[in-house]
Amino acid sequence: MEEARQKRVRTCVGCGTQSDKVQLLRIVRTDEGVKFDATGRVPGRGAYVCSQECLSDAFSSRKLQRALRCSIERSNMDQVMADMATLSAQTR
Ligand SMILES: [Zn+2]
Repeated sequence: MEEARQKRVRTCVGCGTQSDKVQLLRIVRTDEGVKFDATGRVPGRGAYVCSQECLSDAFSSRKLQRALRCSIERSNMDQVMADMATLSAQTR
């Protein structure tokens, strides 16, 4: 039962903070571009951030692009930010 002790720790691509999955926001790369994955269940390569600030930092420093192995348009990023703001506000 060694596996049972392993926690699924995720690392924020912005600041490098490690946390378990529920506390981080998932960004996923899809065929239509990069999206904020509010459910954590969208298939595709994902990256995690702990806040919108970290998302912005990770985009500016290209860490997000490296994590997702793709380039990201500014307009695409604006959409992700907007979705994150909207959907995060609904979560209490
Ligand atoms: Zn962070």
